[in-house]
Amino acid sequence: MDNPQTSNPNSSAPKIERVRHELKRRSLTVSSLEKITPGMLRIELAGEDLADFVSLAPDDHIKIFVAGAGEEMERRDYTPRRYDNDARTLIIDFAIHEAGPVTQWALDARLGDKLEIGGPRGSAVVSSDIKNWLLIGDETALPAIGRRIEETGGDAHVTAIVAVADGAEHQVFQTDAQLETHWAHRPLSQATDASALLAILRTVELAPGTFVWIAAEASVTRALRAHLVEERGYPLSWIKASGYWVKGKADTTEKFE
Ligand SMILES: Cc1cc2nc3c(=O)[nH]c(=O)nc-3n(C[C@H](O)[C@H](O)[C@H](O)COP(=O)(O)OP(=O)(O)OC[C@H]3O[C@@H](n4cnc5c(N)ncnc54)[C@H](O)[C@@H]3O)c2cc1C
Repeated sequence: MDNPQTSNPNSSAPKIERVRHELKRRSLTVSSLEKITPGMLRIELAGEDLADFVSLAPDDHIKIFVAGAGEEMERRDYTPRRYDNDARTLIIDFAIHEAGPVTQWALDARLGDKLEIGGPRGSAVVSSDIKNWLLIGDETALPAIGRRIEETGGDAHVTAIVAVADGAEHQVFQTDAQLETHWAHRPLSQATDASALLAILRTVELAPGTFVWIAAEASVTRALRAHLVEERGYPLSWIKASGYWVKGKADTTEKFE
């Protein structure tokens, strides 16, 4: 396998610019609800507070606040799937699973319901010089993967490998980029099993200078990252990997440095 750092002398670590945003809470109202697939609920939120909403990177996250069992509000991370400052709207895609408090909020949501959000606190903007992307993830990563695909320009190539339950969960993306999408089918009950994703990943060529982005249940992310680094010698600096949730643990994420 080619190693982008050695086979292409011009490409050392990719440039990632970290931009901080003023941390704001926003009070929004549910303005539309749509089941885009059986397992994905798309909710549009609206409100004047969105006039100055900023999200510069597809893998940014906001905090969603909902009432908890106790006095404390529950908070979870979600991806701004799309937003429009002029229209004052923000779209969030909720992957449906055995519900914690935020998934339950989404399942119960009705037009006109209120929702508090916070952030994004910052954006990690990957250089537009990157012309090859490999995006790997599960349902919770699909909003960020979809946004990255849609925001990538026509001179770039994107390969996406996404784990979902079955063909009914496939999504279609509008993009100018050259896109190759592989769907890895496995039941949601096996969301901690990396084998369906790994089987496809093993067949994918990694061109030098490919930025690899991974987000899934933490043990799956760990297995995919280990395959790339340990078996294929791919440099860590070209991989961004996150555990977007941890099986059996509420409100838990994992960062892989
Ligand atoms: C940066 C970032 C961005 C994210 N963006 C999105 C997004 O746009 N859309 C989205 O749907 N999710 C997204 N997630 C994942 C989401 O934050 C978690 O799935 C979160 O745990 C859901 O909160 P909850 O209240 O429903 O469940 P919790 O109370 O956190 O968890 C309850 C139980 O459900 C389990 N669980 C949590 N998530 C899942 C799942 N997906 N499948 C099966 N079991 C699960 C937990 O292990 C726990 O046992 C993102 C996570 C991060 C870190």
